[in-house]
Amino acid sequence: MILPLSGKKSLKLYFLIFIFTLFIVRTDTTLTKEKKSILEILSGKFNPSEDSTYDIVPLQYATQTGLYIHGEVLMAFEEMAQAAQKNGFKIYINSAIRDFNSQKYIWESKFNGQRLVEGQDLKKTYPNEITRVLKILEYSSMPGTSRHHWGTDIDLGYNKNINQMLTNSAFESGEGLKFYSWMEKNAAKYGFCQPYKESPEKRNSNLKYGYHEEKWHWSYKPLSAKYFKIYRDQAKKLVPKGFAGSSYGENFYMDYVQNIHKDCN
Ligand SMILES: [Zn+2]
Repeated sequence: MILPLSGKKSLKLYFLIFIFTLFIVRTDTTLTKEKKSILEILSGKFNPSEDSTYDIVPLQYATQTGLYIHGEVLMAFEEMAQAAQKNGFKIYINSAIRDFNSQKYIWESKFNGQRLVEGQDLKKTYPNEITRVLKILEYSSMPGTSRHHWGTDIDLGYNKNINQMLTNSAFESGEGLKFYSWMEKNAAKYGFCQPYKESPEKRNSNLKYGYHEEKWHWSYKPLSAKYFKIYRDQAKKLVPKGFAGSSYGENFYMDYVQNIHKDCN
């Protein structure tokens, strides 16, 4: 573009246009970035190790290395864990943030039969893909729909035996029942609730689908209730895709996301 100006006047004008363009480009990318990031968080498409909002769970509380969690959640958890310790319980975090790709790995290995579910190769026992998807969904989320993406949700146990701590029965007798009763009575003081408490039918009889009870899964409500609301508002942008069996999930994924206990709502 050639402007019919010359000398100092034209230089001044070009300079002003340049500054104005910079301003527009900058404002635009800032806005785009902000809008994008909440959807990225909700669908697990971000790297917590590159973002100072998230912290590593200290090893005294973790059953494995490299677990990330939202910084605010970690502070509340540590307070709760210290109170638990005074009452004779240790609390360990077995799983915290799982990003889209790690959830995809878990999901697809169950879908393809590489990882057994209740001792079964689901590809053989459920050759019909939709019934297989529903079987996996009893306890596992489709990638992009897991609350573990958010940095607010954790799987907890009272010892370091991860496999045992991922079963309801571990919290229903003896030491486990004592620990669970303490959590039920005290966790809310620190902001924690159980999204998958009781059966899906009991939680929300108006929803057709929902995860089974998970006595080990806890959520930091001050943050997760906000994310939950945004997820519902943005549901159409969060239709799960990009993994084996994803096409079967698009009609009912919101039932699974929404079927949480009223304590977490
Ligand atoms: Zn969980």
